[in-house]
Amino acid sequence: MASLADNLRKIDPYVAGEQPNYPDMIKLNTNENPYPPAPGVLAALEAFDSGVLRLYPSTDASKLRKAIAGYHGVSEKQVFVGVGSDDVLANIFQSCFNSGIPILFPEVTYSFYRVWANLYGISYRLTPMRQDFTIDKKDYIGNENGGVVIANPNAPTSIFMPLEDIRDIVEANSERVVVIDEAYVDFGGESALALLDTHPNLVVVRTFSKSRSLAGLRIGYAVASEQIIATMESVKDCINSYPMNCTAIEVGAASLDDEAYFRGRIEAIVKTRAVLTEGLKKLGFTVMPSSANFVFASHPGIDAGTILSRLRQKHIYVRHFNSEPVKDYLRITVGTDEQVDRLLAALKEITDEI
Ligand code: PMP
Repeated sequence: MASLADNLRKIDPYVAGEQPNYPDMIKLNTNENPYPPAPGVLAALEAFDSGVLRLYPSTDASKLRKAIAGYHGVSEKQVFVGVGSDDVLANIFQSCFNSGIPILFPEVTYSFYRVWANLYGISYRLTPMRQDFTIDKKDYIGNENGGVVIANPNAPTSIFMPLEDIRDIVEANSERVVVIDEAYVDFGGESALALLDTHPNLVVVRTFSKSRSLAGLRIGYAVASEQIIATMESVKDCINSYPMNCTAIEVGAASLDDEAYFRGRIEAIVKTRAVLTEGLKKLGFTVMPSSANFVFASHPGIDAGTILSRLRQKHIYVRHFNSEPVKDYLRITVGTDEQVDRLLAALKEITDEI
């Protein structure tokens, strides 16, 4: 007879970066933004009428969708919002990859993609990376597939693929969905949003978690053709009619208002990224060219796991993926100048000692 355990799903979940909480810690392990969200966010929170919490929110989060559509100059019907881009991507995996033919994504990329594929029973093939961790567009052209997912800039490598290559991939796969996950695009590189008008098979995914400093509010979105968005809405309505809470809808919409603040903080992070990259190189690290709010670095003489645990002892947190071909690398989020100075000083101590 089947046991209780036989009835329960066995699956390897995605493992998120830890969320430690020490007053003196330097947390550079989950690509959060070190700066506060736009001042309009605080104003919207203060003005928030808690009376609305009695009611269910709008089923399609229309205020937030309208704000995002206005920001990008597209129709509201081309925007889908979710509880972080993780929620949006999970929906895409359910809505868009139904051919039974394996989907393609790179061997080194956001590790959640294979978790969703496994969860939803979607077969997939991993495309190899070049030696320098760049992606070869040829792997996605003339290679039969049921869809494509590419993070651009890629994570955890931080490397950006030129828009011409993305265009070639989207064009070569016009009969299936190509997803470009642009979680980090505000920090460098060119967005594939420019291709949307001419490519109805393209889905661009964005998040408020990184460049908008709102990881805690959980807002992500997809921009695509009306046909794809309508499919995603139907799938959403098979799971949860009200995924976006009232606060996220109000406050998220307000966060799009202050473009000058937004650009200013991105500029600060890009400047600090250069300081971090140079500092790491001086200490002997190899650093990938980053277009994101993190860098990917390895030390030729010291094991990445050792550096990780030595930093942990000092309450400095970075991320290490202990598997080939990236086990020699650490992914380090760009913090404030002060945080980066303290990190570099700690790394100097560690590299001097070993
Ligand atoms: N895509 C990529 C490439 C990411 O690194 C992350 C962050 N873990 C996400 C999507 C999801 O971010 P969020 O759910 O906070 O929008």
